[in-house]
Amino acid sequence: MSTTGDGTRSVRAGLPTPEQYEPTLPGPVFAAHFHLSGDPVGPYTYGRDGNPTWTHLERAISELEAPDEPVGTTVFASGMAAVSAVLLSQVRTGDVVVLPDDGYQALPLVREQLEAYGVEVRTAPTGTDSVLGLLDGAKLLWIETPSNPGLDVCDVRGLVEAAHRAGALVAVDNTLATPLGQRPLELGADFSVASDTKGLTGHGDILLGHVSCGDPGLTDEVRRWRKIVGAIPGPMEAWLAHRSLATLHLRMDRQCANALALAETLAERSDVAGLRYPGLPGDPSYATAARQMRRFGSVVSFRLADKATAERFLAELRLVDDATSFGGVRSTAERRGRWGGDAVPEGFIRFSVGAEDLDDLLADVEHALDASAR
Ligand SMILES: *Cc1c(COP(=O)(O)O)cnc(C)c1O
Repeated sequence: MSTTGDGTRSVRAGLPTPEQYEPTLPGPVFAAHFHLSGDPVGPYTYGRDGNPTWTHLERAISELEAPDEPVGTTVFASGMAAVSAVLLSQVRTGDVVVLPDDGYQALPLVREQLEAYGVEVRTAPTGTDSVLGLLDGAKLLWIETPSNPGLDVCDVRGLVEAAHRAGALVAVDNTLATPLGQRPLELGADFSVASDTKGLTGHGDILLGHVSCGDPGLTDEVRRWRKIVGAIPGPMEAWLAHRSLATLHLRMDRQCANALALAETLAERSDVAGLRYPGLPGDPSYATAARQMRRFGSVVSFRLADKATAERFLAELRLVDDATSFGGVRSTAERRGRWGGDAVPEGFIRFSVGAEDLDDLLADVEHALDASAR
C-alpha cells in the first residue's frame, strides 16, 4: 500500500478482497443484532458493538491515516462524539489536560465538563510556544492544526516530542487537513481525531467522526467508550462516507487549488484584511505548514471592514452559500462572529472553497466584494 499514491489509495481504501458475484463495496448492513449461537464472541454480535459497514470504513480510514503502520480506527456518530471519546476515555479526576483556546467552538463546553469532573484544564493559543510551559504534569495535550477558524498551524512533531518527554499523550484534531493533507500519527501523535462531517466526506450531507491510533490498548479504550456512550454512526452514513472516500483526492486537489487561487486573489484587494491561508507563501503559518502538510486545506479566512459589509458580501454571493461547516464540494462562507463562540472580529469571514470552476468562483467573489464595498 505504501508505494501507491493518494489517488490510488483513496479509490481502493478499505475494499474487501474481491469475491465472485459480490459488489466492490458491499452495501450498508442494517442490523440491530446478528445471528449468534453459543458463546457471544464477535466479530458481529450486537449492533452497538460492531457492524460490517463500519469495519470497511474503519479499515479505509486507517489506510489513509497511516499507510505504512497498522493503526486502529473507531468511527463515531459525529466529530464531537470522537473528540469526547478521546478525552473522556483517557482523563480522570485530578488529571491535567492542555487545550487550545482558539480551537473548535465546542471546546469551551468540553472544558467546562472536564472541570466539572475535577480535571484541571490549561489553555494556550495555537501556533505559539506558550503551550510548552503548560505540559508539566499533563496527562494529555490536545492540538488542532490548522485551527478552526483562525488557521494557525503548530509544529506537531515538536509538540509531540515535548509532550512525550513530559509524559503526556497527544491528540491532534485533523478535521481541517484530512488525512490527505496531514498524517498526525506519522508525526508522532497518539490519536488522530476528526469530524468527518467536513472535508473527509465532503458533500455536506452527513455527520460522522473518527479516532485513529497506533496503540491497540488506546484503541480498545476508545472502543469501550463508544460502547458505553453509544455514539455510533448509522450504517447508511458509514456507507455514504466510504463511498465519498473514492473521490477524496479529486475533491482535495481541486478544492485546495481553488483555495490557494482565491487567497492569491484576495491578497490583491485593499478591502480585504487579515487574510489567512496556510498554503500562501507569506502566511505566518506557511513555513510550519509546508514542513508537515501535504495539502493545505480548503478553508480561507479574512476580514471585511465591519459586520454590515460582511453581511452585504455574503448576500451578494451567488455561487457560495451562506452556511456553516466547511470542506464540501459546494463553496460556503459565513460571518463567523454570528455564533459568538470564537474570538473573531465582526467582519471575519470563514470561506470554505468548493470544487466549482475557478473562474466562476473568482468572478462571483470579486463581484460580491465590489458590490458590498459601499
Ligand atoms: C466541526 C468540527 C468538530 C465537530 O464535529 P461535528 O461533526 O460537528 O460533531 C470538531 N473539530 C473541528 C475542528 C471541527 O471543525
